Amino acid sequence: MFDRARKVFPGGVTRASIAMDPHPLYAVSGDGCRLQFLDGHAAIDFHNNFTSLVLGHRHPSVMKAVQEQLERGVVLGSPTPGEVELAEELMSRMPSAERLIFATTGSEAVMVGLRVARTITGREGVAKFEGGYHGGYDHAKVSGMVDPERWGNSLEPAGVPDTAGLPEDTTRQVHIMGFNNLASVEQVLDRHRRQIGVLVMEPVLGVGGLIPPEPRFLDGVRALCDQHGVLLLFDEVITMRLGKGGAQEYYGVIPDLFVGSKVLASGFPISILAGRADLMEVLDRTTPRGRPVYHSGTYNANPLSVAASLATLSEFNDSLIAHLNYLGDLARRRLLDLFTDRAVPMTVTGVGSLFNVHFASDPPKDYRGARLADQSRLREFHRRMLASGVYLASRGLGCISAPMTEAEIDVLVATTEDVIDDMVP
Ligand code: PMP
Repeated sequence: MFDRARKVFPGGVTRASIAMDPHPLYAVSGDGCRLQFLDGHAAIDFHNNFTSLVLGHRHPSVMKAVQEQLERGVVLGSPTPGEVELAEELMSRMPSAERLIFATTGSEAVMVGLRVARTITGREGVAKFEGGYHGGYDHAKVSGMVDPERWGNSLEPAGVPDTAGLPEDTTRQVHIMGFNNLASVEQVLDRHRRQIGVLVMEPVLGVGGLIPPEPRFLDGVRALCDQHGVLLLFDEVITMRLGKGGAQEYYGVIPDLFVGSKVLASGFPISILAGRADLMEVLDRTTPRGRPVYHSGTYNANPLSVAASLATLSEFNDSLIAHLNYLGDLARRRLLDLFTDRAVPMTVTGVGSLFNVHFASDPPKDYRGARLADQSRLREFHRRMLASGVYLASRGLGCISAPMTEAEIDVLVATTEDVIDDMVP
């Protein structure tokens, strides 16, 4: 299949994040927390399409809601009552969502969020953290995956393009800070005080290593943004799963704007940009302020995603979140115990239902710590885990889904044990 794929896709994949050597495995179906691959392999799915399947595959109430919507049509070319109902539900869960809009992907929602911030502040610069991942849009593609030779000093890291084809002007507009480093935030906001209008961040660094904020870090960022008149945009594409109110509720720090996506719709594409009504007002096409921020998209609030989202959110309640977070804590604790017991230089980071394995002795506190861990052993670990029936993301990230029980954590830990025993000479 990969040979065929290489004849149609440059490099054989149509999604960089799931490429792996020597080739990816082709999945054919998912059921609950299990995945079936084309070559006959099966695996427990801790990948969950990069944390988007909070209810696992094919949850009955999501299936039912989507099937019912299919009977009424896929896309109707008009607003639907469901989108209003879904927005009301989200606003009741997240008080900082005084107004919101729907988009299809996390990348788009971040893109619109940056435009809103630029319109409000009149400043074009964006502050972001090294290792922060905010999707595929130009301003997000600076210093997400930078190599040590190019990352510069830790207080004011270099802005390095993550992709070919990025306009130089864009790279210059993005100012990079170190995660969990308030001195860095202060220095960057101070030095570029007339340029930076928005600070975009994941409350927990996600793709960059699944690194939680240290105590008072988020409060510190919030205060520095206020001092400098900079809008704070939380990217909760991954962290919304921490609680009904996302990471902002979990950590008690309220952004001006935020983006959410993955947890929302059990794998159906949908995202939101939400925030203060006085800021979101610039999206109002009847705004008295002049030209509004443009927002549209053929598949925005498409009825299938909306139906899936309403069904998902009605399952995503306090007792499910407690179950997910309990299993996440258990997974991290048992993996750490295993690494200590075996005296291997491995560790685990994460929070709630999210975990990330690293080949490093101590839990990384920022992107640099995660990047300096042994990447080639991590890749080997990932391959061996998959071969042994446990599917993680290749960066070592995993998450819990609703159908999982302690039995799946037992398998995760036992498989990890077998794999590291095989790997450690
Ligand atoms: N922000 C974060 C924190 C993400 O993890 C991702 C996707 N992994 C995105 C934004 C981009 O979302 P999408 O892939 O839907 O464009």
